[in-house]
Amino acid sequence: MLNDEELERYARHLVLREVGGVGQARIRKARVLIVGAGGLGSPAALYLAAAGIGKLGLVDDDTVSLSNLQRQILFRTADIGRSKAEAGAQALNALNPGVAVEIHATRLTAANVTGLIEGYDIIADGTDNFATRFLLNDACFFARKTLVSAAVTEFEGQLATYKGHEPGLPCYRCLFAEPPPPGTVANCSETGVLGAAAGVMGSLQALEMLKEAAGLGTGLSGKILTYKALSAEFRTARLPKDPACPLCGPHPAIRNLGAHPGAT
Ligand SMILES: [Zn+2]
Repeated sequence: MLNDEELERYARHLVLREVGGVGQARIRKARVLIVGAGGLGSPAALYLAAAGIGKLGLVDDDTVSLSNLQRQILFRTADIGRSKAEAGAQALNALNPGVAVEIHATRLTAANVTGLIEGYDIIADGTDNFATRFLLNDACFFARKTLVSAAVTEFEGQLATYKGHEPGLPCYRCLFAEPPPPGTVANCSETGVLGAAAGVMGSLQALEMLKEAAGLGTGLSGKILTYKALSAEFRTARLPKDPACPLCGPHPAIRNLGAHPGAT
């Protein structure tokens, strides 16, 4: 049951027939982990906290720098030099004290990833490097966790929900079997990114996580959404499970996290 404060705070959710008290209670029960408190994780975390998600974990080992503030709207100028996980948790608590925010000021590794995702139901990938994306995908597959993965570069973004542990649904390796060789793909500090484009993708990521949490509508598993900001175009394409996927296919080459750097 929602208390009086919650009835007022979530009034605009509660009047939605598809959400209502049942949906809001599901949102309050949900436990989400946001990996990367950056340009994607910032709006995602803010919307999830505002929506009244029950438990929200933030994974980031970085500190806030001046050049982050153009898109990482979880932080203020006064936060420069602070831990992103700690400053982010403070901002989320200020927005909604009803959300249990957990701080993980650590880098995701093959040794800690399984323990980190264990206490959560839905995992958000908002990271900026392929090594972490593949590690998180593999860990979520083995732990049977829903992974909502967003990416943005320059003026374009993509978003998909991966449930490779479920029959017929793809994982991230169904899209890209292996990480690209180091140095072949530039990251956002080299190519740049329009802050609001990251905001669009992070907001969509939060929305898909809320849909997963509350059981709303049709999710993005088995599909991939792309956004081109300069031409203002959204497109959703089918993303089938790859029968040759080295992780979630019928004859997997990857059976544990052992191939990832730092595996124990
Ligand atoms: Zn797969």
